[in-house]
Formats: sequence, structure tokens, C-alpha cells
Amino acid sequence: MFLREIRDPPDSIRGLGSRWAGRLTGAGIHTVAELLCYYPRSYEDRSLVVPIAGFRHAPVCTLVRVIRRGSFYMGSKKIAKVYVEDESGRASLLCFNPFKERGLLPGSRHRLWGHFGCHRGEIQSSNFETEALEPSAGGDGGPEPGGRSGQGTGSSGKFGLILPVYRGKGGLKSWNFRLLIRRGLDQYAASLDDELPGSIVQRDGLLPKARALEAIHFPSTMEELERARKTLIYEELFYLEIITVRRALERRSMPRGPASSALEDGPASSAPGAGPESSRAQTADPWSPLQRRLVGRLPFPLTPGQREAAAEINRDMDGPCPMARLLQGDVGSGKTLVSFLAALKAAEKGGQTALMAPTELLARQHAENAARLLEPLGLRPALLAGSIGAAGRKEILRNLAAGETDIIIGTHALFSADVTYRNLRLVIIDEQHRFGVMQRNRIMEKGAAKGPAPVPPDLLMMSATPIPRSLALTVFGDLDVSVIRDMPPGRKPVETHLARGASEGRVYEFVRRELVAGRQAYFVYPLIEAAEDEEKPAADIKDAVSMYRRLSTQIFPEFSAALIHSKVEEEEKQRIMEDFRRGKIRILTATSVVEVGVDVPNANCMVIEHAERFGLSALHQLRGRVGRGGGEAYCFLIYSDSPGLPAVPEGLEFASYSREGAGLTEEGKKRLKIMLENTDGFVIAEEDLKLRGPGLITGVEQSGYLPLGIADPLRDLDELVRARTDALAILDGDPGLLLPDHRRIAEALNRAPPFAEPVM
Ligand code: ADP
Ligand code: MG
Repeated sequence: MFLREIRDPPDSIRGLGSRWAGRLTGAGIHTVAELLCYYPRSYEDRSLVVPIAGFRHAPVCTLVRVIRRGSFYMGSKKIAKVYVEDESGRASLLCFNPFKERGLLPGSRHRLWGHFGCHRGEIQSSNFETEALEPSAGGDGGPEPGGRSGQGTGSSGKFGLILPVYRGKGGLKSWNFRLLIRRGLDQYAASLDDELPGSIVQRDGLLPKARALEAIHFPSTMEELERARKTLIYEELFYLEIITVRRALERRSMPRGPASSALEDGPASSAPGAGPESSRAQTADPWSPLQRRLVGRLPFPLTPGQREAAAEINRDMDGPCPMARLLQGDVGSGKTLVSFLAALKAAEKGGQTALMAPTELLARQHAENAARLLEPLGLRPALLAGSIGAAGRKEILRNLAAGETDIIIGTHALFSADVTYRNLRLVIIDEQHRFGVMQRNRIMEKGAAKGPAPVPPDLLMMSATPIPRSLALTVFGDLDVSVIRDMPPGRKPVETHLARGASEGRVYEFVRRELVAGRQAYFVYPLIEAAEDEEKPAADIKDAVSMYRRLSTQIFPEFSAALIHSKVEEEEKQRIMEDFRRGKIRILTATSVVEVGVDVPNANCMVIEHAERFGLSALHQLRGRVGRGGGEAYCFLIYSDSPGLPAVPEGLEFASYSREGAGLTEEGKKRLKIMLENTDGFVIAEEDLKLRGPGLITGVEQSGYLPLGIADPLRDLDELVRARTDALAILDGDPGLLLPDHRRIAEALNRAPPFAEPVM
């Protein structure tokens, strides 16, 4: 049986009543497998002897003899006090919990573990555990997981000397888990099947599954623990990679529908097995006729990175199986244009394109660009926005279903139930990390819904949050990746400055000079209105609404300003952005809604207040909003020293207020420093990942992307790469997983898939 197959409820564990099962359910643990996969947070190594006299340097861990018992009163409550000794000295144990004194009879010997302190010349502990060394008289019955038995309050012999420490959960404490898991292992571990191929287990010196699981909870030595960790980490990553690699191989073997070659434009692209010869020929002039016309009409040449990415996309779209490509490029690297080239290709093949943006603002901007760049070439673009009235929407949907729209642009509304496509051939997802997996899957179904043998459309995902290698291998492991490394010429790095909240005045004066010179500025705040964050005292946090008032009436009354955030009506937002782009509005006060996409070349100042409250990738995106025209551009990261602290009362030493730490955490400091020192989005993303974990950077956790338990793709990158290599080798040589050593992989995938469809 595979571990994940033990779907028995916890009360199937012998001796564990429904009360315990209920508490486990309350802690979110519904099966025995889940219980056994609840790995320790840390370990207490009690194999090292620390005598009583050494209590100041470490928890005491020694063998003691009970000398005598006494008691004292706390209020009206009588508390037992047990005096013990070892060779180095004496100590007293305060038994606030009566069961702790049970079995501690004068003359009896115990293993003692605990944290000790000195009180009135006496070495004392109330936080200790004991374990009888010889059978004590009057020990109670079977060890009930809840009531700790009289003979031992913790490390009874069956636990060994390296004790697991579990994160408390749902009212259950570490020692509850210790007992519950011990029982679960006793009953189930022996019947567990290995999930890794034997050859890999041997090659890497890993443990069989049952032993690994036993040792991750109750290791007998630290070395064994290390091997258990290595085994379980590798196993997780191995299955993750088997699944992603297999999916990639499946996709590549999926044939396109017969319609695909209807409007082929050149002999090279329609050749079924377009080899290296023809692809090199395409690189010389990769363009299809419509693409050539677009490129010819542009006022600038494409960057080498754009050309290369477009060529790769063309090869995919001409290739024998549907494209699934991630296009990465830093903010401002010109991804939109590359995606338009792909849309032209799709149109030439007689198919429709759907371009999905995360905000309506961005969708509108794309739609305007499409009207400017694609309409003259004969494509029929349309915008499907939430703010369009019912009649307009109906018309748009009718055109789309009739095939009279070639490229439809919108937010995720593009894939609501009532939207039907005539022949969806290409799906472009801009700022892909803003969308969850569910949304993406729904989109792909739209394309696949037609015909007897449905074929998914080509998929192009674009991201300005560069995906670090570790995540690319896991989350996006089955995608092909194109990277635009270069920027359009003439872009200078944005000059970035850090400023304390207290020196905001100097920043404002600097910005004033730029405004006077005719430029424009963004001011960004973490909140719309301070009141929306109820946990923090409102007065300490600058918010967009009140700062808009201050900026427009007190600080920059001579310049026109506007306020934009997610609660502003869509039409109003649209008008403001238009006015800002045309220079009618000079100062835009905003929340991070301006983070994505919006393009205003004349804006060259980005002021971010409470910068410590933004994530690194958000800061990077925000900074990318400026420096898009010529000339110098500036980004000011203003951080607050101590939000949440009262103002320093007069006459009090400032030193009595914690200057460090209160407002700007260590992590906050690091983030700001990274922004100051780096311009490369890849480096920043990698750092962000280190600081915040994968969940936060790509919405990975919300979307159920990386359901890993013990592995961490960033920390375990070496294992990950090895797992990927292994997975590729296995599936390459034995795609059906039929060889004896691989059969268990196929079985594990069929019977107990480790991940619920983690990626698309
Ligand atoms: P992003 O990759 O962040 O989506 P955009 O596609 O919005 O970037 O492009 C940013 C700006 O750069 C746009 O104004 C676009 O017209 C311009 N641009 C794109 N490609 C080039 C190029 N090769 N040379 C000069 N400017 C370009
Ligand atoms: Mg963009």
C-alpha cells in the first residue's frame, strides 16, 4: 500500500477513540496518511547528557534518583514538589499538573529532560519530562494518548532519544502528535510500499519508504534523520517532475486539428517534421506576410530578444502540437508586440485570438494598441469589458461566435460561460501570475470544446515577474520558455533612492523640479483609505485618499492631480488614465493598481510611500512604470521608521522608543536594499522568492500550485534538478512506465496521485 492510499480516518488507529479523531479533524487532519505526513517542525536531541549542574547552558538531560517529595501552596491549591539528584547536583521539580508527579516515588530512577532555572538558591523546573528507568510500582494501564502515563511524561522508551517537536494545531500539542503518530506508525508503517524506483534508492543511499517515515518522526540518530529527510524530499520532487514531464510529453504528442494547415503561408512551416535546417532558415526572416507588414510599419526595429521570441513562437505555432509557451521579459521589454505578432499568425491560419489581461485598464490599453497596429492590417479587434452595456456586449459576443472578430481583448470575463468562440486558436495571457489555475483551465476548455477530437488552442503566457529557475522547473515544468533579455534601446536604469518618512519633504521638492520641467509623477500608497486596515492605528499610515488631498491642496497645489484605485468607477479610471497619458493630469496618486502595464512615457518620477509594505516584485513593477521615455527617471522608496508607534512625547528620550525593528523589519530592510542594488527583474524575483517563499511570488499557494510538504524548490534546487533529470530519463526510455522498476511509479500515479493536477 502507498502512504497516500491510507485514507482511513484517524480513529482506525487502534486505541484511538472518536474524541481524538474529532480533535484531529478539527486540526484539519482527516486521514491516517495526513497524520503520518504531519512532519516535525524540529527535534530535541536528548542523546547528549547534560547534568543538573549544566542547566544554564542547555536543557538538562540526565539520569536522576528521586530523593523525597514535598509540596507547597499556591493560593489554596496544593502543588507537589519532587526533589531529585544526579552526580552533579540536586534540583526540584514543580508538578503543577498532578499527573507529572505520578511514579516519581522516593528511590526510583528516571531519565529527566527539562528546562531549569535558579530560584532562591534552588535549581527548579516546571517544564520537564521524565521517564522511568525501571518498572515502577503502580504504573497505570495502557498508554492513553491524552493522559500521559504515570511512568513517563514524554520520552518513554518507544520514542528514542531524538524527540520530534510538532507545530501545535487545532488545540493539539506537540506531545499529542507525538503519541498519535507513534501509534499510527506502529499500526501502518510496516505495510507501506516504496514509491521510488529501487535503482534510485540505491544510487543515492536513500531509505525504504517505511523506514524513512519512521525516521523522520522518530530518528535513532541524526544521520538517520538526514537520510530520511533526503528520501522524502527527493520523493516529492521526483513525483512532481514525473507529472510535469509526462504532461509536457503528452502535449507534444498531441496532434493539431486538420484545420491547422488551412492557411499556411510557406512551405517550410507546413513541413511536418520541420528540422533544424528549416528552423534556421526561418530565423533569417521568421515573418509571415502579415507579420512582415507589421514589423515594417513600426517606427522602431524589434530588439533581438523580441525577434528571437517571436521566431520561437512562430515555430511552435507551425509545429505539429499545440504551443504552451511562457514569454518572460522584464517590465517594458515589449512583450505586447510579440504577442500581437502571434495573433497575426493565428489569424493567417484562420483562427481567433483571445488576449486576457488582469485589469480592465490594461485590457483597454491593449485594445487601443490592437486598433492602432492590427486593424490597419485587416484584423478585427474587439474589447470585451465589464463596463460595456448589455446591448454592446451582446453584439460583441455575436460577432465573436460568428467568427467576425479576430482578436478579442478583455479580462477573465473573456471566458465566462456565455462567451463562445468560432475557432479559438490562440490564447494569450498577460501578466499570467495574476490568474489562478482554474481560470486558465477554463480558457483552455473554450478552445477545446469544438469538434470530435478537441484540440487545445496555442497558449502564450506572458510574465514580467521573471520566474526563477527553480519555479520554472516545478510550476511551469511543462512549458517552453522564451526570455526577452534586452530592453528597447535608449532606456536608462531608473535612479533609485531610499528615504526615511521624515525626509519626505526633500523628496517632494525634488519631484517639484521635475514637474516644473514638464514631467509627470506617480505617488503610490499601500492603502486606499487608512480605515480599511483596522488592525493598525489609522494615524500612522499614509493612504492614497488622504495623501491625494494633501498633495493636491497643500504640497503641489499648482499642478493638476488625480486619484486612482480599485474602487474608482471603471469609466472614471479610464478618463483619468487618458488624461494622465495626455499630460492633462500631472500627478497620479494611486494604490498598486498602476502596477501592471500602464504606459506613460512622460512620467519619470515614481514615489512609493511605506515602501516596506510592498513585496519586491510589486516594487519592481511599480518602478518599471517610469523610465519608459527618454531622459532620467527616478524612483523614491520612502519607508516609515515606526508605524504603529505613538509619536514621541515631548521630553522623552527618543532612545526609549525602539528605533529599529518596530516599523522596518529586518526583512523590510533587506527588500529595500535589494531594490536599491538591483535592476534585473530576474535577480529581484529570485531574492523575493528567498525572502517570501514561492507562494507569494506567483500566487502559487492560492492556486494550489505547489502542494509540497517537505520539499522546498528553492532550498532543494539540486535535488530538484536531479529529480527532473531522472524523470526525463525514465519517461524518455519507458514512456508507458512498463519496466519492472518503473511499474510502481505508474501504480502510484494511478492509485494515489501525489498532486491534484498541479500545473497546466
Ligand atoms: P511589457 O513587456 O512590459 O508588456 P510593453 O509591451 O508594454 O512592455 O512595451 C513597453 C513600451 O515599449 C511600449 O510603449 C512599446 O511600444 C515600446 N516598445 C516595444 N518594443 C519596442 C522596441 N523594439 N523599440 C522601442 N520601443 C519598443
Ligand atoms: Mg505588458
